[in-house]
Amino acid sequence: MGFEIHRFTGDVDAELLCPICSEVLEEPLQAPACEHAFCSACIHEWISRQPTCPVDRQSLTQLRPVPRILRNLLSRLSITCENSIYGCQAILKLDALSSHLAECQHNPKKPVPCDQGCGMVIPMDELQGHNCVRELRALIDSQQQKIQDFQQEIGDQRSQINELKRELYMMQNIMRAMRGSSPTMRAMADEMERNEVIRWSNSLVRARVTRWGSMISTPDALLQAMIKRSLADSGCPPHIVEDLMEKCHERSWPPGLSSLETRQNNRRQYEGYVCKRIPGKQAVVVLQCDNPHITLDMMAQPGLVMIFAHGIE
Ligand SMILES: [Zn+2]
Ligand SMILES: [Zn+2]
Ligand SMILES: [Zn+2]
Ligand SMILES: [Zn+2]
Repeated sequence: MGFEIHRFTGDVDAELLCPICSEVLEEPLQAPACEHAFCSACIHEWISRQPTCPVDRQSLTQLRPVPRILRNLLSRLSITCENSIYGCQAILKLDALSSHLAECQHNPKKPVPCDQGCGMVIPMDELQGHNCVRELRALIDSQQQKIQDFQQEIGDQRSQINELKRELYMMQNIMRAMRGSSPTMRAMADEMERNEVIRWSNSLVRARVTRWGSMISTPDALLQAMIKRSLADSGCPPHIVEDLMEKCHERSWPPGLSSLETRQNNRRQYEGYVCKRIPGKQAVVVLQCDNPHITLDMMAQPGLVMIFAHGIE
């Protein structure tokens, strides 16, 4: 539908009228052959029923933009604001109409913020019947419903995850049990265990050792038991807990670390270690999978545990 002709000030050239709605062309398009021009909405509705020009009945399957001169003529027309019935006095060039409408203070649907403090933005004409408490109540209700839905979903997913964990645990045990049955099975089980270690390592936080000198190279049984419990709690794969704990004491460390003297000689190499924090403890694991760049005289399989008096960040 075009712009109602009575809204224009002054005469409007008949060339600028839409033959379908008889109003002033809105977003005009023209028929390529006969060059008759129509409002976009009018002609689209028309050709959805019959593919002919409404003026001369020529076949019409395509539409194209009208020439610039026609657009210029249209844009120079002066029109009143469509909110004039609500008191808007503005008279605008047609090409400035849409930007005015977005701003027009008389638009009854203009979104305005409620000044009663609820913070909602509502159409101006709904401001009168607006009740902050009622609106906020409705908002709370809908959000509570959403929270409930999310909680339900989280619960469902949690039980699914537990189910999957149980299955995974079973599969892992089966693979371990079948390890000896064939070289393929052994390779698969080894790979599975390597992946378990990598997953665990990725779940740990990278640690920085600031006082290598505070390393406890001969931890007593009590301290070892504490660290072992923390390792297990951190999700350390059961098959490496014992091996790792074995490597927390200088008597089982590799040659580069096995005595105070060699440790002092190799001290520069400490900075190359990728260390992971054992949660809650002044201790780190240095896993072989994180440290492929470290030479064998400074590393052990599956890794080292280093306990400190302090200085872990
Ligand atoms: Zn029209
Ligand atoms: Zn035509
Ligand atoms: Zn206005
Ligand atoms: Zn309000």
